[in-house]
This record gives sequence, structure tokens and C-alpha cells, in this order.
Amino acid sequence: MSDMSTQLQKLVIASGNAGKIEEFRAYLADLGVTLILKPDSIDVEETGTTFIENAHLKASQVAIATGEWAIADDSGLEVIALNDAPGVLSARYADTDSDRINRVLSELSHHSNREAQFVCAIAIASPDGAIAADAIGVCKGAIADAPRGNHGFGYDPIFLIPEFQQTFGEIPPEVKAKISHRANALSILRSKLQNFVNQ
Ligand code: IMP
Repeated sequence: MSDMSTQLQKLVIASGNAGKIEEFRAYLADLGVTLILKPDSIDVEETGTTFIENAHLKASQVAIATGEWAIADDSGLEVIALNDAPGVLSARYADTDSDRINRVLSELSHHSNREAQFVCAIAIASPDGAIAADAIGVCKGAIADAPRGNHGFGYDPIFLIPEFQQTFGEIPPEVKAKISHRANALSILRSKLQNFVNQ
């Protein structure tokens, strides 16, 4: 881990996923750092077998390639009855969001247990690629019978929050921003960031 001695003023978001980028911008808006997007030319292969391993890989490699601090998240959906699939393969489970959703729904059609959770691992690397801080956040829910709502991205339309009886596709983004796996991971990470961000 980095000694965090270099002040963090600019942060590259190591993601090409528009949904994630939008959420990062909202969650980190008040941090007092300039957020920049990673150049399309930098593409990191997700060779890790865990969310945290992939988050470290992406943050480190993007930091080294840009010479800036970088933040990366690796996240996905774990469905209990499917032995935690799609897990780290969430983005690669099928070719499009709707195919990925249909695959989960069809694999789950023979199971009565619809419990699931979103997991998000986040890492921040300093310009030399050393991991300065990391965190894991979880959001528990269930898989709906069919997609509902147009908010969010990825598996949001089938991820049901029992307390609201609504999916992340139906819940307003500002509410998702308070309870999601990404929000939970970022709030843990923020406490670690206080040490080296100018505020
Ligand atoms: P990766 O972290 O780039 O490997 O991609 C994670 C994949 O998990 C995304 O492409 C989505 O399919 C899914 N995912 C992660 N976070 C969310 C979320 O907040 N809502 C819906 N799907 C998500």
C-alpha cells in the first residue's frame, strides 16, 4: 500500500462503463478532486478471480499508464441459488444487458430461492501503481420475476430491494446512491481518503 504522502488532486476513473462513471461522479462530487475519464486506448484485462483482485489490477494499471491517481471498481451480481454466479463474470455473462438479464432469469426459473447480492470492490492507486486504499461494499436483495423500470444499468431492472418492493430499475437514482453496493464501498473508502485529500 502507498504511504499516501502525495496529495490527491486529480483522479482518473478507470472504467468505460457509462453507468458506473455517472454513479462515481455523483458519489465523489463533494470530494474536492478533479475527476477525469480514462483514455479509451487504455484497456485492462480482468484476469483476477475475485472482485478485489480485478479492482486492484484496473486501478494500478490505469494509474501507471496515465501517471495520475486512479480509482477502479470491479462489481457484479451474486445469485445464491446459482452458486454466486454470474459473480466476477457479470459483465461477460452474455453479449448485451438484456441477454445477461434473460440468462439469469432462465437459470433461476427452477429455483425458489431468489436471494442475491451486488458486490463492489473499489481500489485507489497512486501514480506509481501502488494501491493506496481499497474497500468492499455489498447490497442484499432478490431477483425479480421479470425486468422492471428504466433507471440504472446492467442488472438493475431485475434486482429487487425487498424493503421497497421495487427494483433498482424503478428506484430513483438518488435513492440507489444511498443504499447500493457502490455507495457502501465508497463510504468505507472515503474514511480512508480523508488522510490524503485536500478538503
Ligand atoms: P465490471 O466491474 O466492469 O467487470 O462489470 C460489472 C458488471 O456487473 C456490469 O457490467 C453490470 O453488468 C454488473 N453491475 C455492477 N454494478 C451494477 C449495478 O450497480 N447495477 C447493475 N449491474 C451492475
